[in-house]
Amino acid sequence: MSDTTKPSGTTDGGPRPDAVEVLGPRREALVPGTPLLEVDDLHVEFVTRDGIAKAVNGVSYSVSAGETLAVLGESGSGKSVTAQAIMGILDMPPGRITAGRILFRGQDLLTMSSKARRAVRGRKIAMIFQDALSSLNPVLSVGYQLGEMFRVHQGASRKEARERSVELMERVRIPAARQRVNDFPHQFSGGMRQRIMIAMALSMEPDLIIADEPTTALDVTVQAQVMDLLAELQAEFQMGLILITHDLGVVADVTDKIAVMYAGRIVETAPVHELYARPAHPYTRGLLTSIPRLDQKGQNLYAIQGLPPSLLRIPAGCAFNPRCDRVQDRCLVEPPPLVPVLDADGADLPGRRSACHFWKETLHG
Ligand code: ADP
Ligand code: MG
Repeated sequence: MSDTTKPSGTTDGGPRPDAVEVLGPRREALVPGTPLLEVDDLHVEFVTRDGIAKAVNGVSYSVSAGETLAVLGESGSGKSVTAQAIMGILDMPPGRITAGRILFRGQDLLTMSSKARRAVRGRKIAMIFQDALSSLNPVLSVGYQLGEMFRVHQGASRKEARERSVELMERVRIPAARQRVNDFPHQFSGGMRQRIMIAMALSMEPDLIIADEPTTALDVTVQAQVMDLLAELQAEFQMGLILITHDLGVVADVTDKIAVMYAGRIVETAPVHELYARPAHPYTRGLLTSIPRLDQKGQNLYAIQGLPPSLLRIPAGCAFNPRCDRVQDRCLVEPPPLVPVLDADGADLPGRRSACHFWKETLHG
């Protein structure tokens, strides 16, 4: 972490040493390891004109305080739909949750009272989307929007709310925050707007942040800065963090564990370094070799042939079988369960699971 208690180069109204002391949301850090979210065997489908699209087919994952989970997969693998189910933003046709539980601090969001649910969604669990511009109101200043939480829910005066907005903007390292608090969203760069979205999420003092492709629209240098900021805030407050991405390179430095999704299922889970070193699923191995090569400009080594399946017609057996370079007869008929991955001596590798019949050959071969 960079040591920047005093933002350098800011010109926002001269020195305010006391303000530096009170930056950020006034909350205590969570106790690391406290279980926050547990998604258990979640199923989501969409009723479409062409049939039922099985977008999420038995996803389970969990995040505790101080932990970062990256959910990785190609476009259409069900990453966002899972997050939308958690946030309750597909509680209407055509999307429907057909099975599963979504536990927040041990309570099932799907069965609790709507009042209790509202206290969690959007408050205890905050979400950051890819497109900040469409999440912010274009005709209100960012300071006004950031201050809403304090005015509406905490009864702060306009002046107090504005102060808190400036603090939040400083906390997410927006230069010249005090001068810029009255600016409108379009006056900020994409990276700065994403920082505003992060500040907005922080204003709720959430236990958990779900960030869905938060840097996909940004250029590479800015991506890294926004990721670093998220990681820094997460470490400071010991929030849980879920990073949804199609690009492992963006999250590798800031995540603890990874869940790889394919066709609405988790096909592999592993601590990030182990996933890199020794993938236990051919799909993961393909994703790893398709990371753009910085040393060979323009070379995007894409090792996986073909495209993900239509969720209206998921292949029998293993959904990845039409694209797999190790496919066997068994893979065409028998869906592989997500099973523990063992090392050569038969010992359990903590956090490691694979949904490949041939995980052993993949891991060791
Ligand atoms: P990603 O992993 O890229 O975030 P999504 O979770 O957004 O993928 O979507 C997974 C699949 O769910 C899509 O490919 C699509 O088939 C289906 N889906 C998502 N939203 C809808 C919708 N509103 N109506 C019908 N199908 C949808
Ligand atoms: Mg998505």
